[in-house]
Amino acid sequence: MAIDRTNFTYRGRLVHLVHTRQFVRPLLEDMFDVADAARRLNTSRPGATYLKESLVGRRALLYFVQPSTRTFLSFQAAASLLGMSTAEVRSREISSEMKGESPLDSLRTFAMYHDLIIIRYPEPGFSEQCAGFFVDHDLRRHVINGGSGKDDHPTQALLDMYTLHREFYSRGGVDGKRILLVGDLARGRAVRSLVHLLTRYEGVRIDLVSPPQLRLADDLMEVSRKTFEDVRESEEIEDFLADADAVYMTRVQSEYEPHIEVSESAIESYGLTEDRVAMMKADSVIMHPLPRRNEIPITLDRDPRSRYWEQV
Ligand code: ASP
Repeated sequence: MAIDRTNFTYRGRLVHLVHTRQFVRPLLEDMFDVADAARRLNTSRPGATYLKESLVGRRALLYFVQPSTRTFLSFQAAASLLGMSTAEVRSREISSEMKGESPLDSLRTFAMYHDLIIIRYPEPGFSEQCAGFFVDHDLRRHVINGGSGKDDHPTQALLDMYTLHREFYSRGGVDGKRILLVGDLARGRAVRSLVHLLTRYEGVRIDLVSPPQLRLADDLMEVSRKTFEDVRESEEIEDFLADADAVYMTRVQSEYEPHIEVSESAIESYGLTEDRVAMMKADSVIMHPLPRRNEIPITLDRDPRSRYWEQV
């Protein structure tokens, strides 16, 4: 089977979903149409039965060796909606990797009795390596990256993009919108992946707010300046709130590079408050990949612009 190694497609169809760069605009739009159809089907019993029969007899392995509950459970729920059975590995300590087996050998073994391997892994690039390994060995299984280190989180980015797509559907779509990205822009993989997907849209402008030590990484800054219509940066959220069509908040990611110190006052300079939200446009939206810390107070959950629960 001649699989294209750069984007892991076969005759234009995705075989492995391992990095955000695979998503070109037509593919994104196709996936959003499929998601819309699945949502609609799932509202009726015959529709839900149809969905449930679509992958019946198929088996998914959730190989999640980095802490996760929400992503883990969301994949488990998705598999259940589609009629797939699931099994899980949550720690390398209970597998033969403790006997010296390489992770790729472990996954090759698991691929013997699973159709799909969903991977959450602490180091970047592992899902891609695994997909390449499956291609090399003609193992006709599928790999999905459910989050790799601080590098990429393609499925989070898909649902973030789907949320924006639905939100702006009747307002000219995502093209031409101004998106404000806030918080830990340096270590947040959700932001990295979302920026890559936003480059697939026309005329998008992005504003960035973070403490200086948590600025967007240089490589992404370069991509952003080349692609977006306008890129502005500040340490104060008030500078850009009034212009934003969507505000994407993120938490401080202290599990990565814990030596980077972030003071409470720095977090306060970008956290949302009732007063700050009052500056936003009435039809703007507030998003967050969750979990949140204190960058969005619970009282804002009632604000009609809050979308983070729907985004989940
Ligand atoms: N849930 C997202 C992730 O897994 C965002 C976060 O953890 O802050 O990266």
